[in-house]
Amino acid sequence: MLLFEERKSIVEYGKKMITSQLTTGSGGNLSVINRSQGLVAIKPSGADYMQLLPEDVVVVDLDGTIVEGDLVPSSELRFHLALLKHRADINAVVHTHQVYATTIACLNWELPAVHYLIGFSGNKVPLAKYATYGTQELCDNIIEAIGMYNACLMANHGIVTVGLDIAAAFAVAEELELVSRLYYQSKCIGEPVILSDDEMKIIGERFKTYGQRQ
Ligand code: 13P
Ligand code: ZN
Repeated sequence: MLLFEERKSIVEYGKKMITSQLTTGSGGNLSVINRSQGLVAIKPSGADYMQLLPEDVVVVDLDGTIVEGDLVPSSELRFHLALLKHRADINAVVHTHQVYATTIACLNWELPAVHYLIGFSGNKVPLAKYATYGTQELCDNIIEAIGMYNACLMANHGIVTVGLDIAAAFAVAEELELVSRLYYQSKCIGEPVILSDDEMKIIGERFKTYGQRQ
């Protein structure tokens, strides 16, 4: 079976999307690229994450042609492939409908630096303009908005995050849900203070050696 490790990671992190309440039902999708083989593993469309097996995961080439798998790939295959081609520094894409980030996206706002953990994206989370799910227009809007950020909100839809691996892309989604919730809650009782771009540059540098990365 092609990309067995990548397929297993999609199954594992798909379940985590549900148990961490970052999506509901079959909403959202995940992909992982194997750059040496030029192949991408992606969640099948409409999959029940809790029932998903490695053999259900679809393997496509960078043009989107199915190389292995019996199921239809995610309807958002276009933007997954576009992001993996646009960003040589990433190997995984996660898209969710997580409630607090999507609340901000429904206002068609960007998410500002209300908490230093916004650094998982950059100095903010930009907003991609609305377009119907699965379309080339949505794909174009995401590529235009995300630039070198690690996330972008999708107007009236959700959020997409990227990372060096699927654990990193998932962590971006998880931490940005916390920041989105803090922004929502602080907006409810006052006007949140936003960290400066200079401070976010310092945070960006510190993140490079955070934890065991010395
Ligand atoms: P798929 O089930 O086709 O991946 O679609 C879910 C989704 O979130 C569309 O934006
Ligand atoms: Zn979606």
